[in-house]
Amino acid sequence: MDFRPKNANYERVTAVIDRFLKEGHSDVCSCPRCINDITAIALNYLPPHYYVDKEEKLKAGSPWLMVETAVVEAIGRVAENPNHSHHLKSTRLNDSPGLAT
Ligand SMILES: [Zn+2]
Repeated sequence: MDFRPKNANYERVTAVIDRFLKEGHSDVCSCPRCINDITAIALNYLPPHYYVDKEEKLKAGSPWLMVETAVVEAIGRVAENPNHSHHLKSTRLNDSPGLAT
């Protein structure tokens, strides 16, 4: 059994980010560095909700609307100020058409 405390808001934040990326917030860079920055910033907006017992999990965590607001805020911050300099270059590379041979 795993009795380590977990932050229910961490799970909610990662779930919301996953959903936002799938729903086509395509302006968001989805490299691991940016995703982790978004996760950290969103978690700093929210109070921690630690739980140990899985039964508590369903009740634990901030309301989804609060979590979504925090993630939207965090995405905006990271989009304005990406933490890695190759950010623009790497998205360009992904967007460029393949070599026509
Ligand atoms: Zn990035």
